[in-house]
Amino acid sequence: MSEITQQRILTTAIPGPRSAELHARKAATVAAGVAPGLPVYVERAAGGVLRDVDGNQLIDLGSGIAVTTVGNGNPRVVEAVQRQVADFTHTCFMVTPYEEYLQVCEQLAARTPGEHEKRTALFNSGAEAVENAVKVARVTTGRQAVLAFEHGYHGRTNLTMALTAKNMPYKQGFGPFAGEVYRAPMAYPYRWPTGEKQCAQEAYDAFASMVTTQVGAENVAAVVVEPIQGEGGFIVPPEGWLARIRDFCTEHGIVLIADEVQSGFCRTGDWFACDHEGVVPDLITTAKGIAGGMPLAAVTGRAELMDAVHPGGLGGTYGGNPVACAAALASIETMAADDLASRAREIEALMRPRLEALADRTGIVGEIRGRGAMLAVELVEDLDLRTPAPQLAAAINRACHERGVVTLTAGTFGNVFRFLPPLTITDALLTEAMDVLDEAVDQVLAAR
Ligand SMILES: *Cc1c(COP(=O)(O)O)cnc(C)c1O
Repeated sequence: MSEITQQRILTTAIPGPRSAELHARKAATVAAGVAPGLPVYVERAAGGVLRDVDGNQLIDLGSGIAVTTVGNGNPRVVEAVQRQVADFTHTCFMVTPYEEYLQVCEQLAARTPGEHEKRTALFNSGAEAVENAVKVARVTTGRQAVLAFEHGYHGRTNLTMALTAKNMPYKQGFGPFAGEVYRAPMAYPYRWPTGEKQCAQEAYDAFASMVTTQVGAENVAAVVVEPIQGEGGFIVPPEGWLARIRDFCTEHGIVLIADEVQSGFCRTGDWFACDHEGVVPDLITTAKGIAGGMPLAAVTGRAELMDAVHPGGLGGTYGGNPVACAAALASIETMAADDLASRAREIEALMRPRLEALADRTGIVGEIRGRGAMLAVELVEDLDLRTPAPQLAAAINRACHERGVVTLTAGTFGNVFRFLPPLTITDALLTEAMDVLDEAVDQVLAAR
């Protein structure tokens, strides 16, 4: 198969005939609940470009949802995976261990926030990591309640569905959900009822009051928080809010779990989003960007908490699979060697002015937010009323797709247009993708 150039190339309509054929086959064999947002079937990918089965090359602004942070088919990752596959593919770390698992845990200890003694356990998915972080918190505190936030997303397993705020499509019909989960208001400045200025203080007060009056702080094992919310629409809490949650947890012996499954690994311009404000969680969950596309997840945290669980209490058949570990080591090495955290800030510097210009020109952007290469625009019908515009977001998304740019939406109201490019994407591709976004918006607005 030929090498992929870092170029957008359109040879057919998107999706093309071969993709359409495969998608028709999909309906007869894949469960309808598994529903691709852009039914273009991929044949090969490299860096920031996906090539489909019709020979089109699409610019990737999604990274498979913040996973291929080091670029698709990153040469270091490919080489590490090939080497490891040839050596051995699996033993199960709980049966006969191997060094690669230890190396990933050492890297996580060194890179995650805080200088304290740490331990790590590896898993397969973000949801599994969050579930296990809650298990650790419950064992160490002897308490049961878990506090999560509005607009939060933590996965699709039973406990993580309960932690997740949004009903459709994640929870609808899937109950009953795990018990002892409580949800506090999120510090969402753009939609805070009394205005952005009050948001940090009032959101914190609502959280603290809820814990003390409704649940009882002495019953709370953990607070689970995304330092920047992902699926909820890249909601960035006001400066200082997270630190106050941290202090509250410390004061009441509550385990603070930072869910950095989406925001972690250089995505936001730091190794972790918590680093931005110097907040040190007790446990941190990671996945997505950790292993260049191989399935791997982790819980890293204070040694005294992580070591409190009895031997055999944590694990799983595949958790910390050696091939996934090799990929993670190569990805982390790439992030460090190529300073991808700085690259994320460069991406923001390129994209933000483009998004600001788009906002000024069109009057449909209520807020531009996010950090580093985790940026979003919240689309509204009316700048004063702030009415969410989900149809507009969907239409622009489709128009980008038709032009060969893979984009994603998000948000509780479905009106957030989010960008998660691979950090290795070229400036040229990113600029072209922003040009395409301009065209797509113009087309959609002209048709209104
Ligand atoms: C994606 C995500 C999860 C779930 O990860 P999976 O690997 O899909 O199970 C959990 N938390 C956050 C913040 C996420 O973005």
